[in-house]
Amino acid sequence: MSQQIGHFINGQKVTGNSGRSARIHNPALGQVSGEVALASADEVRDAIAVAEAALPGWAATPPLRRARVMFKFKELIEQNMDELAAMVSAEHGKVISDAVGSITRGLEVVEFACGIPHLLKGEHSENVGTGVDSHSARQPVGVCVGITPFNFPAMVPMWMFPIAIACGNTFILKPSEKDPSCPLRLAELLKEAGLPDGVLNVVNGDKEAVDTLLEDERVKAISFVGSTPIAEYVYKTGTANGKRVQALGGAKNHMVVMPDADMDQAVDALMGAAYGSAGERCMAISVAVAVGDEAADTLIEKLAPKVEALKIAHYEVADAEMGALISAEHLAKVTGFVDAGVNEGAKLVVDGRGKKPEGLENGYFIGGCLFDNVTSDMTIYKEEIFGPVLAVVRVNTFDEAVKLINDHEYGNGTAIFTRDGDSAREFSHKIQIGMVGVNVPIPVPMAFHSFGGWKRSLFGDHSMHGPEGIRFYTRLKTVTTRWPTGIRSGAEFMMPTMK
Ligand code: NAD
Repeated sequence: MSQQIGHFINGQKVTGNSGRSARIHNPALGQVSGEVALASADEVRDAIAVAEAALPGWAATPPLRRARVMFKFKELIEQNMDELAAMVSAEHGKVISDAVGSITRGLEVVEFACGIPHLLKGEHSENVGTGVDSHSARQPVGVCVGITPFNFPAMVPMWMFPIAIACGNTFILKPSEKDPSCPLRLAELLKEAGLPDGVLNVVNGDKEAVDTLLEDERVKAISFVGSTPIAEYVYKTGTANGKRVQALGGAKNHMVVMPDADMDQAVDALMGAAYGSAGERCMAISVAVAVGDEAADTLIEKLAPKVEALKIAHYEVADAEMGALISAEHLAKVTGFVDAGVNEGAKLVVDGRGKKPEGLENGYFIGGCLFDNVTSDMTIYKEEIFGPVLAVVRVNTFDEAVKLINDHEYGNGTAIFTRDGDSAREFSHKIQIGMVGVNVPIPVPMAFHSFGGWKRSLFGDHSMHGPEGIRFYTRLKTVTTRWPTGIRSGAEFMMPTMK
């Protein structure tokens, strides 16, 4: 019998009652593996009421005790890593080692949240005026919401809820309806770690659930990660309804290869960064910008045999390098982009269309694709493909490379490969991108830094996790204090800080 997945509300797994559901697939097999309930507006409102009711108790719980729950949660994730990774791979299709890696990146945010007593410390100034002191505190914002994409069903939710909860908020997670099992299991583990019921709730759903969360006035903050059109919609609607919103969108990440770069290192970096997780990463490199024809020719010559040889397999195969894409629709979309590249005149050096592992002909697989001579007016350059397709763009100079990247609408990540410190420094300084790597192809900031792009890759003012996460999930309060001895002299008409 196929799996039936509901919600997790007030510490309990509950079945949905909306009468609406969506199918979940095993992408490697190309088969339906279960159904997930899609919450109605009323079910979402009930979850908000639960989160609101849990808020006062949790917000008043000392940060040290909240941290202890996070310490225990960290242990439980480690103990259950194999099960969690298997859940991610079975619904997403990514290879198991990649699933473990992504959960580990989420786990690191939990580790960061364990330091919450320290992270919430405010500032204090003595004697801002004679006998007057000032201190600041960071207090929870209230009921927070996370809306997350399919490509990282464990990591992206863990960018959000561990910090929001450690800060004293309650949380409603609306995961991707394509791979909802792991987020539900994480909620169960957090309960096992000692989190009181109602503090973390998971509501599965689609637009109806999201719209209800965006409109309900009891929700105070929304974190979103997904495609740019939906990120923009969530940002505009959420802020119009008076909420603070951080909405991370799509990407088109360029890696510049300078003529002085170590070409073998650059090629290895591109292989992992472009084809890892079948290109379904918001930090995947999808454009290699080769400076000079010699660098471009060498890149293509060295990349082509490696892309041909990529090991595409079922996610459980130990040495698999790439699994299947998430769905049949997404496979058709990625294939359509490759067709468009050919039609628009790019040179398809390696064609992965139609490539499937033996015995998995129904799986949503595509082999690695490599394009040369891509230009900035082509669809495959302008749009996010979100598949294993790497475009090589040839430019003549460093300045041309910088301009190309700065002119793109997206600004998530970028990298430069060079041996020259001056080029690297100039690049890091001038580039209009939120996350920059120097000889590092996927410069994902660690949990104690913050993750976020620029331009149409992030709507709002705050990046995810790290210090930015703490700021997003708390409100600043500044208290100015004077004790009665200071006002003994009676009424005053001068500002106290002027004295
Ligand atoms: P998506 O935008 O389709 O879905 C994201 C979330 O929004 C899901 O929970 C989904 O249920 C919900 N949603 C979808 N359509 C909606 C609508 N019309 N109204 C309201 N809610 C809606 O994204 P996806 O396909 O799941 O994920 C892939 C995208 O996410 C890519 O564009 C990728 O670049 C991006 N992404 C970005 C980052 C980042 O950090 N910037 C990280 C991971 C993924």
